[in-house]
Amino acid sequence: MTDRINGLTTKEVSTLQEKYGLNELIKNEKPNPLKKFIGVFKEPMFLLLVGASTLYFILGQPREGIVMLAFVISVVSITFIQEWKTEKTMGALKGLTSPQVYALRDGKKGLIKSSELVPGDIIYIAEGERIPADCQVIEASNFSVDESILTGESEHVFKLPKELSESSDDHWKKYMLYAGTLSVFGKCTAIVKLTGFNTEYGKIGKAVSEAKDELTPLQKKMGELVKAIAITGIILCFSVMVLSYFYNRNLLSSILSGITLAMALIPEEFPVVLAIFLSLGASRLAKKNALMRKISAVETLGSTNVLCVDKTGTITQNSMKIKKVYVNNELQDSTAFTDENLSKITILACEKDPYDPMEKAIIENGERNISLNELYNLELCQKFAFDSKTKRMANIFKLNEYYYAAAKGSPETIMPLCNLSDEEVKKIEEAIDKMASKGLRVLAFAECKNDKLLEKLEDYLLNFKGLVGLQDPPKDGVLEAIKTCNNAGIRVVMITGDYSKTAVAIGEEIGLKFASKSITGDEIDCMSEQQLCEAVKSCDVFSRVIPEHKMKIIKALKNNGDIVAMTGDGVNDAPALKNADIGIAMGKRGTEVAKEAAHMILIDDNFTTIVESVRDGRRIFDNIRKAIVYIMIIHIPIAALALFAPIFNLPQILLPMHIMLLELIIDPTCSIIFEGEPEEPYIMNQPPRSPKEPLLTKELTKKVIAQGVTMFLAAFLPFHYLVDTGSSVEYARSFSLITLIVANVILVLVNRSNTQYLIHIFKEKENKARLFINSISLVILACIVYIPILQPLFKTSAVHLKMLIVAAFIGIASTGWWELVKIYKNVKNKRC
Ligand code: ADP
Ligand code: MG
Repeated sequence: MTDRINGLTTKEVSTLQEKYGLNELIKNEKPNPLKKFIGVFKEPMFLLLVGASTLYFILGQPREGIVMLAFVISVVSITFIQEWKTEKTMGALKGLTSPQVYALRDGKKGLIKSSELVPGDIIYIAEGERIPADCQVIEASNFSVDESILTGESEHVFKLPKELSESSDDHWKKYMLYAGTLSVFGKCTAIVKLTGFNTEYGKIGKAVSEAKDELTPLQKKMGELVKAIAITGIILCFSVMVLSYFYNRNLLSSILSGITLAMALIPEEFPVVLAIFLSLGASRLAKKNALMRKISAVETLGSTNVLCVDKTGTITQNSMKIKKVYVNNELQDSTAFTDENLSKITILACEKDPYDPMEKAIIENGERNISLNELYNLELCQKFAFDSKTKRMANIFKLNEYYYAAAKGSPETIMPLCNLSDEEVKKIEEAIDKMASKGLRVLAFAECKNDKLLEKLEDYLLNFKGLVGLQDPPKDGVLEAIKTCNNAGIRVVMITGDYSKTAVAIGEEIGLKFASKSITGDEIDCMSEQQLCEAVKSCDVFSRVIPEHKMKIIKALKNNGDIVAMTGDGVNDAPALKNADIGIAMGKRGTEVAKEAAHMILIDDNFTTIVESVRDGRRIFDNIRKAIVYIMIIHIPIAALALFAPIFNLPQILLPMHIMLLELIIDPTCSIIFEGEPEEPYIMNQPPRSPKEPLLTKELTKKVIAQGVTMFLAAFLPFHYLVDTGSSVEYARSFSLITLIVANVILVLVNRSNTQYLIHIFKEKENKARLFINSISLVILACIVYIPILQPLFKTSAVHLKMLIVAAFIGIASTGWWELVKIYKNVKNKRC
């Protein structure tokens, strides 16, 4: 039996865990190495390699055949390692977003992973959490659960300890909480009885609706691109085979030419680059307090153009301070606030042990005038809890012969319950206006005595007692972050349950674009869909809204073609979070349900982090694009060399061996360099990328062709010349290879940035991969040209120093010339 005060001990937990296993409803599918292994064999590149190596054996060149096979093995292992790494990163991220629960262990209450629960654990459930296991209630306060997932009943069920619940034969017990169901209200302490597959939920065997990672839009686009290139490749291949056969009447060697070209053309790096960039991007974001629950969010972040954010706690600090008080028909500074009676009401209208910073501030302030002990001895008989719809709450206490009610809430919801003359109402409203226009949150307080308890708060006849104006300043950095958004073409929309004037004042203070007016929840209710679509175009402040309105706002924005990010924390926010292009749940304040529905979790609840994530999203996309452009460019000289040699009836410049080296080892590694490149300085000074924009824009296509063709010419023309002037093919080939690989190194360094020049690499050294990978390329080059045992394999011969310098120089010039284009563009951009 569990110790109710200290919970289980670590030792007990580990024995129980051994006995019962992890509290999981879906077996985590272990990646199957065999399946992966077979998957590699289906890759076209692999098949081509095997084909080429077989041909070599048939042609009587077993040494080449063996080297080919060695390549096959290295390709298989590289693919393996990459997938393993990607999966590990993803797995780590999944672990970070897996559900957690407060549990009592070793006498301490702490957050643990729900999967680590064992029978006997004592856990604490709050509003908006998914019940992690089947448990029995120990203590419940106003705690209700949505069990529809198990029972189909949509009505919420109130839970009670066993002693208090009447016995019934019903299968579903009032004192039990069932795994998979949802807490919708109140708090509860419970002891775990059954875990994992032993729970009711586990028995039904319903798979938990885990969000499967689908392909991101980018991955889909990329798939199409790869397909188009592959089809072109096949057609070209056959043409080359036929052409080559026409020249030399040698079937096997023409097939080899065809295969060579096919290998040169297949852009097999694309999907790999995407997967790696996105997952590394997500893990970088996680380090900066933004957890991605869906990998596609990384991509969407970059094209977001509207950020809908909650005011309290996200934009503002949620550390409230009382600034003004309206009491006895007079507006005073809080320092002058000494009214004992109002202090009493303010304290009694709050929770006893509040979580809400606003209530904390109220109690702190009231405590100066009256002692808490005295008040907290009163017996609480009835409670009307706060909810965002009614916007008010009240506590009713027993006081001698009568009951005493203390109520607080938004003035609009409290004043109608009080007996106020028109004149009084006018005076109070003036005071509210004065406070709200300074950005203060205004709360009204009322009290009454009654001789019996009544069912609804509306039934009590309240006496208006005063107003309190609380200040909640914007968080540090919010002003700058909003400026950044304005420059980046991103609109920030503030959504709040607060009063219009207060919201507008704060909206103006933080510099929202359309902050001079606000649309209220009531106004939204009165609008047609079309009217709302029109209205959201020029309004950045929504006030007095409830979570249900968020959904309408999102729909309207999306209808207008905006890409919308929306923050939320409560249970009611879940639908809006799901429907937004990016739903962002608060990590600290957020309920488990909101987190489940969201695409991204904001660990520090901070608006600035959202803006930083957008910046990162843009950078990641930019770098993916740079890598793709690089891969496209480098395919041009390789494929063109394979294509043009037979056309000009020259010996093959690049043999399958070289193509493998370039395409399977050097290029994929070089493309990884782009992942670590810093952002372009203009990245947050331009409007967001349209999701409809193709991956390869016209301008980029021009760049690809220009750079690719010069690289090709730089490798092809010297080869042609050298062969014509009587040099050996090996010598000419070595010359071309030097040009090509040096050009490749420079290409990476030139294309890493659109604004920073090549020489800046000596200044910016953060990207360590850059230096390392480029050096390796050059070392490989030196090996295949100068190491005698490798020469016959790669059909090369040593190039003497003078020619080496010439070749290197041609290589540098063939891609370095783009620096001139950069200079031209930079100058042009500065001028306008
Ligand atoms: P926000 O979107 O700014 O977090 P809320 O929905 O929390 O807004 O609050 C909306 C309004 O409800 C507030 O402006 C205030 O008038 C009232 N209110 C908020 N919290 C309480 C509370 N604990 N007790 C009474 N009234 C409250
Ligand atoms: Mg709030």
